[in-house]
Amino acid sequence: MNTTHYDIVILGGGCAGMQLMHQLIHHDQYNGESILIIDADKAYLQHKSWCFWHSSEPNTYDSIIHSTWNKLSIGFSSGIKKELIKPYRYSFIKSETFFDFHFEEINQYQQVKYSNDAAIAIKKGETDFFIETNNEIITTPALYSSYWNKEKVLNDPSIFLQQQFYGWEIFTEQPVFDSTAAILMDFGITQAYGVNFAYVLPYNKHNALIEITGFSAEEYSVEFFEEVLRQYIQKMWNCTFKIVKIEHASIPMTNYSFNRFTEEGAIAIGTAAGMVKPTTGYAFNRIARDSVLLANHYFNKEIPAEFSHNRFKFYDRLLLEIIKQRPAKALHILMQLFRKVPYRQILRFLDEDSSLIQEAVLFAKLPKKDFIKQVLKNGE
Ligand SMILES: Cc1cc2nc3c(=O)[nH]c(=O)nc-3n(C[C@H](O)[C@H](O)[C@H](O)COP(=O)(O)OP(=O)(O)OC[C@H]3O[C@@H](n4cnc5c(N)ncnc54)[C@H](O)[C@@H]3O)c2cc1C
Repeated sequence: MNTTHYDIVILGGGCAGMQLMHQLIHHDQYNGESILIIDADKAYLQHKSWCFWHSSEPNTYDSIIHSTWNKLSIGFSSGIKKELIKPYRYSFIKSETFFDFHFEEINQYQQVKYSNDAAIAIKKGETDFFIETNNEIITTPALYSSYWNKEKVLNDPSIFLQQQFYGWEIFTEQPVFDSTAAILMDFGITQAYGVNFAYVLPYNKHNALIEITGFSAEEYSVEFFEEVLRQYIQKMWNCTFKIVKIEHASIPMTNYSFNRFTEEGAIAIGTAAGMVKPTTGYAFNRIARDSVLLANHYFNKEIPAEFSHNRFKFYDRLLLEIIKQRPAKALHILMQLFRKVPYRQILRFLDEDSSLIQEAVLFAKLPKKDFIKQVLKNGE
C-alpha cells in the first residue's frame, strides 16, 4: 500500500469538516499546508437545510444564503406572535449549495484534496497519526475527526432523546405564505407524545418548507408525521399543494459528555465534539465559531483546551430532564419563554452569549416551581 503524508487530515467532509477546511485555507498564516478530507459516505449527496441566526456583520456564507428573515414567529393555540429579531437575522442554506461552495474551494487549492474513502484504522505514533484506509496509508501530525460512535453514546447513562422531524417543501398555486417571517415553533399542533411543534420556512409566497418536529425518546412514525403535517397545512393555509421535496431526519439530544479529543488523540469536530446544542439541535453556528478557534490553534501551535462544564450544560440538562419526564411541563415552559421574553434575548441565550444577570431576568419569567422541582430531583 502507498503511504502519503499530509500536513493536516480531516476525517468527515460534512458540515464541520468543510467549515474547518475553509477556516484553515483562509487563515492569514496559511502557507500552502497540504490538507486531505476523507469521507466514506459522500456527505454532499445528502440534502439538508441548515438554518442559523447571525448578526448583520459579514458572514462566510453570505453569498450562498438561500433565504433570510428579520422576523420570527411563534405559534400558540391562541394565534401567532411575530417579532423583529434585530440585531439578528435567521438564514437558510441548502446543503447542496454549501457543498458546491466548498468543492469549488477544493478545486482552487491544489494542496487540498478530497478522498471518497473509509478510514479503517487509526493509530498514533510519536509524532504522526497513521490512518489506514481502503486504498492507502496516510500519515499526518494534525488529525481532526467528525466520526463518533453512536452505539457508545446510546449505551451511556446520559439522557438521550431524539429531535425527530419530517417535512415537505411544498409549492402552492395560490400566494398563501407570509414570507416576511419564518415560524420557528408553532405549538398549536397535537401534543400526542413528547413535545411537538411545526416549523415553517416560507421562501416566498408560493414555496415553503413545513416540518413537524418532536422531542421524544420514542420513535415517531412517518404516518404520524404525515397526518399532522396534512392537518397543519389545511388549518393554516387551506390550499392545494405539490410536494417538491421531503426531509426526514433525527438529531440526538443528549447531555453525553463529548470530548475534545477522540480515543486515538485526534481533535474532535462537529457532532463528535458536542457541537449540537442538546436542547435545540442547532449546530451550524457553533461549528462555525469552533472552526475559527481550531484554525487559530493550528497556526499558533496551540492545543485546544478540553471543554469546560459551564452553566449552559446545566441548563440544557435540566430542560432535557423535564422534556423526558414531564413533556407537558416542558411545553408550558417553552411557551412561557416565547410569550414573555423578547425573541432576540432568547436567541442570545441559546447562543450561550448571555450574561448571568440576563439569564436571571429570563428565568424569573418562567414557572419557577418546575425548575426548582427538577433541580431538587437531580440532587436526590
Ligand atoms: C437533517 C438535519 C438538519 C439539520 N438542520 C440544522 C439546522 O437547520 N441548523 C443547525 O444549526 N443544525 C442543524 N442540524 C445539526 C447539525 O448542524 C448537523 O448535524 C451537521 O451536519 C453536523 O455536522 P458534522 O460535520 O458533525 O456532521 P455531518 O455533517 O453529518 O458530517 C460528518 C461526516 O463524517 C462522515 N462520517 C461519520 N462517521 C463516519 C465513519 N465512521 N466512517 C466514515 N465516515 C464517517 C459522514 O459521512 C459525514 O459526511 C441538522 C442536522 C440534520 C441531521
